[in-house]
Amino acid sequence: MRVPKPHRVTDKALLKALRIGYCELCGRADMECGVHHIITKASGGGDARCNLICLCVGCHTAAHAGNITKEQLWAIVAAREGMAAEQVEMESRRLAREAHGAFFGILDGAEGVEA
Ligand SMILES: [Zn+2]
Ligand SMILES: [Zn+2]
Repeated sequence: MRVPKPHRVTDKALLKALRIGYCELCGRADMECGVHHIITKASGGGDARCNLICLCVGCHTAAHAGNITKEQLWAIVAAREGMAAEQVEMESRRLAREAHGAFFGILDGAEGVEA
């Protein structure tokens, strides 16, 4: 199986690039925040701004548990980037498809587990 070459970018570098020091979902700045890939790297999601959101540990866990939808996260990213939510989602999915070739399943939300 062809695996896309992972970008070795640290969360810190990504956060700096995003200039975010708080949780974009709940607004907390007093908890450890990390970069979340809305489309996981396992599914081809990359380090593009449209696919990244800064989440606190609590929201991050909820996102991976499926308690927060991608649509919710993309709506937040869209507001940050000054784009329409559908635009951000389309761009994220397009990049993921390119990274993953013709791998099917991305659009079905059949995504791998990633921290
Ligand atoms: Zn949060
Ligand atoms: Zn994550």
